[in-house]
Amino acid sequence: EIRLENIVKKFKDDVVVNNINLTIKDGSFTVIVGPSGCGKSTTLRMIAGLEQPTSGEIWIDNECVTHTPPGKRNSAMVFQNYALYPTMTVRKNIEFGLVNNKVPKAERNELIAEISEIVGLTEYLDKKPQNLSGGQRQRVALARAMVKKPKVFILDEPLSNLDAKLRGQMRKELIHLHKRLGTTFVYVTHDQVEAMSMGDEIILLNKGEVQQVDSPMTMYYDPNNIFTAEFIGTPA
Ligand code: ATP
Ligand code: MG
Repeated sequence: EIRLENIVKKFKDDVVVNNINLTIKDGSFTVIVGPSGCGKSTTLRMIAGLEQPTSGEIWIDNECVTHTPPGKRNSAMVFQNYALYPTMTVRKNIEFGLVNNKVPKAERNELIAEISEIVGLTEYLDKKPQNLSGGQRQRVALARAMVKKPKVFILDEPLSNLDAKLRGQMRKELIHLHKRLGTTFVYVTHDQVEAMSMGDEIILLNKGEVQQVDSPMTMYYDPNNIFTAEFIGTPA
């Protein structure tokens, strides 16, 4: 499990995360949702190790990882803008994470074959990102994270660049992928429909503070406060 204990993040004098306490359960599909600017990406980046909290501690299982670099947290992050290498083929893009980890060639090829099969990229391995659709590019970004076999997937609005139809399809694929892998997903979106349809646990943030942590059903039928009710759309 991942635990955030009294996490505060300031940029200069701006408090953007204000004393957050959270537990993210192993194997859960946890969605962090809330309005633009409420601190979702900042929180995610601190979990991934890309940003240091101003105060507080982050724990993974029984280890304090507050100052552990991203590469040593057994997590992998997938971004909204893919961040693919344009001059490299799909295969090279996926392989990239592994080359750094000194995985032997034969094993690399086996992993790439396995992962590209799961995300439906087998036929595209020799293409360059510019010749792929948005959905295919997003799959490459996913595959690049998956090939590291991380214990935790951290996804920041990974579908926001896709059109509505493809987004719907990718939502289903991600839910399926989560079931199949059984690993923890920590998923950020500002879209409450996406949050409610994907998460088994929802964390609602507003202005750097946790409003409620619950299952989608409880969130909808038993909101803690007016902000939650309005954001989630509970009928009055
Ligand atoms: P969105 O839904 O728009 O992506 P978010 O919930 O992910 O929003 P964050 O990116 O976490 O929001 O930003 C939270 C606040 O912190 C914002 O007010 C933002 O301007 C500020 N902020 C984020 N990163 C920095 C930074 N590097 N320096 C200064 N301020 C920052
Ligand atoms: Mg964000």
